[in-house]
Amino acid sequence: MTNETMEPWLREILRCPRCKGVLSDAAGPKSPELQCPQCRLGYPVEDGVPVLLVDLARPLGD
Ligand SMILES: [Zn+2]
Repeated sequence: MTNETMEPWLREILRCPRCKGVLSDAAGPKSPELQCPQCRLGYPVEDGVPVLLVDLARPLGD
């Protein structure tokens, strides 16, 4: 799954703010999101802008 709305250069530098791991593109319930498999968190992408805040991340694995 890809997120065509995000700038490639921006996508390249994105890392999980918690573990600094690589994020993968996914489709969240309301918006695209970037998921960290290590932390089991999904970070929302709002209007093409990733919100890399642990406080706003969605727990995965339900
Ligand atoms: Zn992480």
